[in-house]
This record gives sequence, structure tokens and C-alpha cells, in this order.
Amino acid sequence: MQIIDGKETAKQIRSEIAAEVEQMVAAGKKRPHLAAILVGHDGGSETYVANKIKACEECGFTSTLRRFEEDITEAALLDEVRKLNEDADVDGFIVQLPLPKHISEEKVTEAIDPRKDVDGFHPQNVGRMTIGAPAFISATPQGIVDLLLRYKIETKGKNAVIIGRSNIVGRPMSILLSQKGIDCTVTICHSRTANLKEICRNADIIVAAIGKPGTVTEDMVKEGAVVIDVGTTRVTDPTAARGWRLKGDVDFQTVSPKCSYITPVPGGVGPMTIVSLMKNTLLAAKKAIYK
Ligand code: NAP
Repeated sequence: MQIIDGKETAKQIRSEIAAEVEQMVAAGKKRPHLAAILVGHDGGSETYVANKIKACEECGFTSTLRRFEEDITEAALLDEVRKLNEDADVDGFIVQLPLPKHISEEKVTEAIDPRKDVDGFHPQNVGRMTIGAPAFISATPQGIVDLLLRYKIETKGKNAVIIGRSNIVGRPMSILLSQKGIDCTVTICHSRTANLKEICRNADIIVAAIGKPGTVTEDMVKEGAVVIDVGTTRVTDPTAARGWRLKGDVDFQTVSPKCSYITPVPGGVGPMTIVSLMKNTLLAAKKAIYK
């Protein structure tokens, strides 16, 4: 069994990006610039955005954080999106989700210029990804593909089972793994799936993106399977400094001995998600997706 070290892989990719950025700057180009909009004071969102800003520094990017209070109107937020769309110095930007209930995430996502949509959530990027055209691909599934590639894990002709069908993880994951070049045979499961256990037992690769700790148990996994755990649920832990720790969707203790490869939580998929956002920002700065 080999543990897939997402933290180390992400560090490696960040240093590759930083080297490329220094070359760009030496050649007289500007530094890639990522902007983030953060609404309100949700603890999780604060942490995610802070980590993204830190990753920008490590990659040599310029970053801007635009903060707004919880009560910002939808119209005002849409206006901020428009300003970033029009700001020639900003290569890409994200609007950290979730947004307060009175603001339509769909409207905000669709207001982002697809050429700056480095989260890859705009329908134009989702559509392009689906047909295999150049696109900003959402960060978590892209990070998982990069882990599989960097660890040289065979995907061709393999049975991949994805648990979860969200627009940010499960569904794009199913599309990417079925693309030419990756060549998995993909099954996508969700809360209404009958016989999840039997379907998983047939999987060479399992991607669990559920958000319910311990859903994937040892009896669901065949010997030698590759298990990717996307789940990050905060569970109370009085022994942890913050009073909580992150738990994945996979029962790591019992499942890991059966796997050929497995991602830990934390330190697996999480760090790759942020580095994928950095990769997209670099692509945006280089105008590599929309020429
Ligand atoms: P989500 O939108 O809540 O989707 C969860 C999916 O799991 C849904 O499709 C749901 O089915 C399915 N599901 C729920 N219970 C199930 C069960 N018992 N059996 C089979 N399927 C079940 O969540 P998400 O945004 O995709 O995130 C999933 C997890 O990944 C969360 O823990 C999240 O925090 C984590 N995450 C981590 C990263 C990272 O960077 N590490 C990034 C994104 C997300 P229905 O569609 O039928 O409801």
C-alpha cells in the first residue's frame, strides 16, 4: 500500500509554477494576478481564502482580496464581479462559496467572465470540459487527475466508481475520468444508488466525495484498489488544538491495508485543490485557454 502524498505533490507543483512565473517576469511579463471575493465571515471560507492567498505568494502571483459584509446586496456583488471582469490587471478571480442565502450563486457564477473563471464553475467552462475542449477545470477533480498522473497510476480501461454527483467534485470527476487519454469506465453513484457496496467492490479506482465520514468501509473495497478520499468533514476532537479535526469519507484504518494507493485526510486531495487553482491562474495569465 502506498500513501499518495498530496501535500508533497502540491509543494512540487507550486515550485514548478513559481519557476515559470520567475521566467515570465524575467522576460518582461507581469506577474499572474488572482483576485478573490469573500462575503461574510464563515470560518471555513476564511481559511480556504487565506490558504489561497498564501499559495499565491508561494507561486509568485499577485493576489487581491475583496471582502464584503454578509448583507451586501446581490446587485452590489454583481457589480463587483463586473469590475473584476473589466480590470485588465486581474487574470482570474474567484467568488468564495457559499454565498449568503439572499444571493443567487448561479447568477454570480454566470456573471464571471469565462476567461477569468479560474474556479471553472461557469457553464461555458463546464461545457467545454465536457466536450474535451480547452477549459478551466474545477480544481478538486483536476487535482485528483494530477495525483493519478504524477503517481503513474494506470487508468486505461479501469473501472472507476465515483460516489457523489456534486457540480464541483463528483460530476466533473466522472467526465474527466471518462475522457480520452484517461480512459476509465465510469460509474457515478449518489444517495439514491442501490447496492453501492456491490458497485464499489467492482471498482479499480474509487473516488469518494460524499461528506459523510466513514461511508466507505473495508467490505466495499477490493484488494489492490486505488482509493481517493475527497471528504473533509470537521469532527469534534478535544485533543486537537482547534477542538476539531478533518475526517474523510473513507474508513482509513480498515480500508488502507487493502489498497494499492490511498489518499489520506488531511494531506491528500485538499492541498491539490488549491494548487489546481494556481495552475488555472497561470493558464489565465498566459491566455492558454481562451486565446
Ligand atoms: P455535496 O454537494 O454535499 O455532494 C455530496 C454527494 O454525496 C451528493 O451527490 C450526495 O447524493 C452523495 N451522497 C450523500 N450521501 C450518500 C450516501 N450515503 N451514499 C452515496 N452517496 C451519497 O458535497 P461536495 O461539495 O461534492 O463535497 C463532498 C465532500 O468533499 C465534502 O466533505 C467536502 O467538504 C469535500 N470537499 C473537499 C475538497 C477538498 O479540496 N479536499 C473540495 C471540495 C469538497 P445526492 O446527490 O443524491 O444528494
